[in-house]
Amino acid sequence: MQYDYDLIAIGAGSGGLSVVERAVEYGKKCAVIEANKLGGTCVNVGCVPKKVMWFGAHIAEALRDAPDFGFHVERKGFDWAELVKRREEYIGNINNWYRGYIKELGIDLLQGWGSFVDEHTLCVDGKLLTAETIVIAPGGQPLIPNETENAELGITSDGFFALTEQPKKVAVIGSGYIAVEIAGVLQALGTETTVISRKDLVLRGFDDLIRQTLTDAMIESGITKQYHFKVKKLSRVEDGTLCIESEDHQYLKGFDEVIWAVGRETLTEPLALEKIGLQPNGKGFIEVNAYHQTQVPNIYALGDVTGQAQLTPVAIRAGRYLAERLYNNQPELKMDLSKVPTVVFSHPPIGVMGLAEHQACQQYGRNAVKVYQTDFTPMRYAFTQHQIKTALKLVCVGEEQKIVGIHIIGDGADEMLQGFAVAVQMGATKVDFDATIAIHPTSSEELVTMRPMILK
Ligand SMILES: Cc1cc2nc3c(=O)[nH]c(=O)nc-3n(C[C@H](O)[C@H](O)[C@H](O)COP(=O)(O)OP(=O)(O)OC[C@H]3O[C@@H](n4cnc5c(N)ncnc54)[C@H](O)[C@@H]3O)c2cc1C
Repeated sequence: MQYDYDLIAIGAGSGGLSVVERAVEYGKKCAVIEANKLGGTCVNVGCVPKKVMWFGAHIAEALRDAPDFGFHVERKGFDWAELVKRREEYIGNINNWYRGYIKELGIDLLQGWGSFVDEHTLCVDGKLLTAETIVIAPGGQPLIPNETENAELGITSDGFFALTEQPKKVAVIGSGYIAVEIAGVLQALGTETTVISRKDLVLRGFDDLIRQTLTDAMIESGITKQYHFKVKKLSRVEDGTLCIESEDHQYLKGFDEVIWAVGRETLTEPLALEKIGLQPNGKGFIEVNAYHQTQVPNIYALGDVTGQAQLTPVAIRAGRYLAERLYNNQPELKMDLSKVPTVVFSHPPIGVMGLAEHQACQQYGRNAVKVYQTDFTPMRYAFTQHQIKTALKLVCVGEEQKIVGIHIIGDGADEMLQGFAVAVQMGATKVDFDATIAIHPTSSEELVTMRPMILK
């Protein structure tokens, strides 16, 4: 049967763009369907705007510490609107660049919501298109909990990026990576910030050293912490500010904005998956096998919608590997999702790869696990009034002390991790780290000079 295209991707985000980009390299005729802006979450309301705000926050922190290094700085305020305007111009340039790039590659862009008609046919704004292979890469959207009364009075990470004026006082509800990143940026830029969470430490699932060190750093930075607080209701009071009520009738008042950062949900509803007999699982994810194939043989899914590590490089790798398998005779190419390096752009940043100590103990047994750990104040803060700690941990297993987990929190962790990730990916052992000559004076050198710690 003759189709309009060899491959159509639904969603021009990290995953969808990567698969069509690689498929056209192998001479395939491709189209991508996008309802919003090119680049998806990462470019428009994720990694990119987040990192720009994080850089802005870093400048604020450098200005704060400048007098300790002898600079006489007079701060005349901070123009939030200016930063947002420049950020959006930058993102607009990326959108335009993508538009030109995919045109140059010969990929057709179909603007609108795509939905299934049958397993080879899609509909975009009433227009029907057929393809031999269809890739579902619709990503997700921030979650607003429906059990909270007036939850819609709060905004989400999307709303945070839409703010053109700096809010004076904000509550961030949540304790995952998006919550701590937004809270850190707001506090550093001068907004009075409260973090509200059900747990007493942020970043559930991360190693305890990271969780404790970041929680302490957030409090030291001036963030107000409201833990074990279960939000029941939001309300807008007479002066126009927002009030948050807990299940046990505690009240937090006076917020200009309340930001929900309690997770994301997949964007599967517009796809009309029922037309092809596909149903998302209980968590809303589309299940795929190790080759990203769904239960319908010619339909694949990748990126956030699959529930695999929800990170841009993971979606990109999945898209490229899929094209390699389909069109470059590499049918066995598979992703190794056991070692995904990840960075949290908190204050200070975090870089993590592999198992936390508790996970390694569960997986290998406590006796097989050896942990190396240290914390210190880096030289950057040796004589500044504000001091931010660095903490490091290596989790090793077995006789050969293979490194199965590396955990870094502190200035530079974001850039430090990538190089160490190569070593861990290659199966480095503690002996390999010990044999590496340190670079002095850096914080990273501590990772190659660590002494063993006795597990309690
Ligand atoms: C605040 C925030 C910060 C983040 N920071 C980082 C970070 O620092 N590093 C990192 O690696 N990851 C980060 N992420 C995660 C990263 O953005 C996602 O993992 C990545 O974008 C997933 O790519 P994707 O292709 O699955 O989906 P997306 O990038 O979300 O793209 C999906 C696209 O599909 C479109 N779409 C959906 N349904 C349809 C339809 N039916 N028809 C047409 N179009 C449709 C959407 O409009 C969207 O543009 C962050 C995410 C958020 C929210």
